[in-house]
Amino acid sequence: MTRLFLLILSILPIVSSSSHSHPVGDDESIFHHSHSSGTQPFLLAQASPTERRDDPNIQSIAASFHAFHPLVQTRADNNFLYVESNSMPEHPMMVGITAWQQQVPLPQPYTGDNAWRIPLAPKPAANPLSAKSNFFRGAIALAANGVPIFNPIKNDGKTDTFLAGELDEYGGHSGRADDYHYHIAPLHLQETLGKSLPVAYALDGYPIYGLEEPDGSKVEKLDAFNGHIGPDGDYHYHATKTYPYLNGGFHGEVENRDGQVHPQPRAKGVRPYTRPLRRAKIIAWEEPNEQSYSIEYTLNRKSHFVNYTLLDNGSVRFDFVDAQGNTTTETYDGKSVRGGGSREERNNGRNRDRQDRRPRDELERQRADSSDRGPRGPDPNDPNRKPWIEAHAAEVDADKDGEVSRPELIAEIAKTLQTMDTNSDKSISKEEAQARGNRLPMAGFVKGHFDELDKNSDTKISSKELSDSFLRMYDRQGQKKRK
Ligand SMILES: [Zn+2]
Ligand SMILES: [Zn+2]
Repeated sequence: MTRLFLLILSILPIVSSSSHSHPVGDDESIFHHSHSSGTQPFLLAQASPTERRDDPNIQSIAASFHAFHPLVQTRADNNFLYVESNSMPEHPMMVGITAWQQQVPLPQPYTGDNAWRIPLAPKPAANPLSAKSNFFRGAIALAANGVPIFNPIKNDGKTDTFLAGELDEYGGHSGRADDYHYHIAPLHLQETLGKSLPVAYALDGYPIYGLEEPDGSKVEKLDAFNGHIGPDGDYHYHATKTYPYLNGGFHGEVENRDGQVHPQPRAKGVRPYTRPLRRAKIIAWEEPNEQSYSIEYTLNRKSHFVNYTLLDNGSVRFDFVDAQGNTTTETYDGKSVRGGGSREERNNGRNRDRQDRRPRDELERQRADSSDRGPRGPDPNDPNRKPWIEAHAAEVDADKDGEVSRPELIAEIAKTLQTMDTNSDKSISKEEAQARGNRLPMAGFVKGHFDELDKNSDTKISSKELSDSFLRMYDRQGQKKRK
């Protein structure tokens, strides 16, 4: 049990040390769409509605966000404009990413106390802070459509997410909490906003305009943070097509706490974070219905899918479909990655589907290392992957002498065939391979590699096909060891 705890802890998001890891909150309202709470475009706090609604300053700052009502909601007090959203924009996401961490966009609870704050009266900082050496965690700006914008540079201090292929065609991707965010200025929002409104606000309260001045004139000299005093006499930033892309730091005052602007909303993940999938390219995004999403990606020119659905009880169901059409399902209720709660609760919160009970570390490793076959079907010839026999040695080693012998492996093959061949025709059909509830060590491999094991493509794995493949793996492994 202790080992399991450690395992789970070791794959929980490391919330304090990465630009893509966000502190996880306890908010249960993650999947409540922010626009379900009312139709008023402008909610007001701590002041009489007429008084604040007429405040031209607030009106002008809120104008960009109003353009995306009801997806985005605003309210204000004397100091801040509060912006609520679920960070799910109205455009396709993830398409075009060639350096993918296998995260997907999930609605985030940026509402109520966890809303974004834009200072109504930005103040120039005595010591302006550059984003070249600070703020690698969390957001530095908020797009008009309620999507946060992170530093274009990752927390290694040098990787440009845009140039590294990590961003989709809109300049966004999902972080470790499956939280969608941009890393460059969202110029595409000008289709809705026109050129006279800011596309985003930096978290110091200064607006970020597009590539031209709001009146359409050419932008004159910018400072190191992409900002200047505009034609109207006020400071603002501009988007650029090259680094820093948006505000390259903060002309105005912000609190820098633990490497991020403080305070700011917390993203909430529902599952342990995933790993990079080398050579994957995301080619399509679909929303089959209001609560379902589908990401298609290719790996060696073969299509794979991550399909996921927000369930009514707040869980998220993931269906991973590999190139052969095999589906593996995982369901997460989010409790396993809550910031609070005991370890016991985290452990119980994980609710992986019965059909896949392989050890967690194996799943993680497969996601990380399966460079050819997708997250569910690692190539047995991939040298980066731990060989199946090594990964399952403890289970197959019947006499527990610490070594898997050839006879032990042959016995395991026989047992697998006997168990999976439910109609006793001395072979495993596709249906038999997909059957649930089979916990034999080889069962997962047989299911995930059906077509490769079925050498003569007669849609059955014969006893010879099964033993040939495993014994070849065994012998090759033995040769490697002897070298
Ligand atoms: Zn990011
Ligand atoms: Zn300007």
